[in-house]
Amino acid sequence: MSIKERYQKIRREIPEYVTIVAAAKTRTAKEILEAIEAGIEIIGENYVQEAEKVWREIGGRAKWHFIGHLQRNKVKKAVKIFDMIQTVDSLQLAEEIEKRCSQIDKIMPILIEINIAKEETKTGVNPEEAKKLIRAISAFSHLKIKGLMTMGPQLGNPEEARPYFTATRKIFQDIKRKKIPHVDMEILSMGMSNSFRVAIEEGANMVRLGTVLFGPREEK
Ligand SMILES: *Cc1c(COP(=O)(O)O)cnc(C)c1O
Repeated sequence: MSIKERYQKIRREIPEYVTIVAAAKTRTAKEILEAIEAGIEIIGENYVQEAEKVWREIGGRAKWHFIGHLQRNKVKKAVKIFDMIQTVDSLQLAEEIEKRCSQIDKIMPILIEINIAKEETKTGVNPEEAKKLIRAISAFSHLKIKGLMTMGPQLGNPEEARPYFTATRKIFQDIKRKKIPHVDMEILSMGMSNSFRVAIEEGANMVRLGTVLFGPREEK
């Protein structure tokens, strides 16, 4: 199946209000362009350097979301390329983005990444600390919080991830109800190739798809 056929199949399957981000790590500009031509509007990238290469070629053809772990020394480059950073999980990172965005006079939409299963090896803020972090970041003039993102634990059976998606949605709703000034709780980014159906059932309105869209990744 071509990327276009895969995209059309998934698009038919999921509700219209759900935005598909093409998770493009390891994919070539040609493959990404194929996804864009099929109808994808947002490309998710995990690595700033990798993104920079394809962005130079086809940057204007889509919106670019950063979905990887952002190191502080990559923020300066990242804020030039990306239209959204989905993985803000600390005040220090937020401060660096604020600083670099103020230098180029840009307001960066961001999502707060939640480490919902509190996995030690994973990025994301612990659920109990999310609200405090959001309140602190809401005061930054060059960052605009638009919602939450989570990876969830990577489990073979997506049903096992369901409680984590439910828990993330509850945090999302809770923060939304708080109506924190300058914070929009609009986007709930959760679900990948093996889990997007469950994530949508639990409230995701943005899913990040790699394998089901582009085919299996080749090991590098
Ligand atoms: C790779 C990746 C995805 C997509 O993974 P697939 O299982 O290939 O769909 C989604 N989100 C993030 C943050 C990723 O790194």
